[in-house]
Amino acid sequence: MKKTVLITGASSGFGKVAAKIFHTNDWNVIATMRSPEKETELSTLSNVIISKLDVTDKLSIQNAVKEGIEKFGKIDVLVNNAGYGALGALEAATEEEIKRQFDVNFFGLIEVTKAVLPGMRQQRSGTIINVSSVGGRVTFPFSSLYHATKFAVEGLTESMQYELNPFGIRLKIVEPGGYKTEFAGRSMTLFSTDDLDEYQPAFNKFTDMIDHWPMSENISEVADVIYEAATDDTEKLRYPVGHDAVQLIAARQQMDDVDFKTMMTAQMGI
Ligand code: NAP
Repeated sequence: MKKTVLITGASSGFGKVAAKIFHTNDWNVIATMRSPEKETELSTLSNVIISKLDVTDKLSIQNAVKEGIEKFGKIDVLVNNAGYGALGALEAATEEEIKRQFDVNFFGLIEVTKAVLPGMRQQRSGTIINVSSVGGRVTFPFSSLYHATKFAVEGLTESMQYELNPFGIRLKIVEPGGYKTEFAGRSMTLFSTDDLDEYQPAFNKFTDMIDHWPMSENISEVADVIYEAATDDTEKLRYPVGHDAVQLIAARQQMDDVDFKTMMTAQMGI
C-alpha cells in the first residue's frame, strides 16, 4: 500500500521540493499551504492533494488532516516544515512579533502534531519530522527569538520520543544550514531599531553577515534528507544538512560557551 505524507509550508522552499520528492517516490502527498489557490505546479501531480493549512489556525489544521485521511486512508509521515525568521534585537520586538514567532514555529508545530497523533497511535506506526535549523543547535547574534523557537522544537522532539516510540512512532529533527529559499526574503521579519540607535552598528554588521552568507542553492539536498529521515527505518534523531550546519554544530560541540561566543563575535566584528 502506498504511504502518505503530510507536509506543512509546501508552497515554497524545502516543503515544496520535499513534496515533489515524495511524489516521485510514489507516495501520496498532502501538500498543505496557506494559499492553495496560488499553487500551480503541485496541483498538476497525481496523488497529490493541496490543502489549505495555516499552522496558527486550528480549524484549518483539523480540516486538512481530515481531508487527507478521507482521501488516502491514513497519514504515515508528518513533515512540520512551516516556519519563518523573526530577527533583530529582542528589545525592538513588539509583543505581537514575539508571540507570532512562537505561534508559527513552535505552537503551530505542536497543533499539527497533535492532529495527526490519534491516527498514528491507532495504526501503531508513523514518523514525525520536525524541520529545525542549525539555529536549533548554535546561536547567532540578533536571532534570540528564532533560536528560542528552534531550541524549543529540538527539546520537544527529543523528549517526545520517550512517549511515542512505544506506539511505533518515530521522531526526527532536520537541521539545515543556509539555503536560498524564500527564508531570507519574504519569510524573514527584521525588527526595526529606528528608535534604538545603540543597537544599530552591530545590527548592521549582522544584516551584512546574512547578506553575504554563502547560501546553498541546492535546496533538494534538504528535501532528500527529509525523505531519508522518513524512510531510513532507524532510530537516528538528528539530521544536520549543509556544510555550514555540519561545521558549526561540530565547532559548538568542541568549544565551551565562552570560546564559541568569542569566535562568533570576532567573525562578525562586534
Ligand atoms: P520558505 O521558502 O520561506 O518556506 C517557508 C514556508 O513556511 C512557506 O511555505 C510559508 O508559507 C510557510 N509558512 C509561514 N508561515 C506559515 C503559517 N502560519 N502557516 C503555514 N505555513 C506557513 O523557507 P524555507 O527555507 O523552505 O523554510 C522551511 C523551514 O526551514 C522553516 O521552518 C525554516 O525555519 C527552516 N530553515 C530554513 C533555512 C534556510 O536557510 N532556508 C535554514 C534552517 C532552517 P507562505 O508561502 O504562505 O508564506
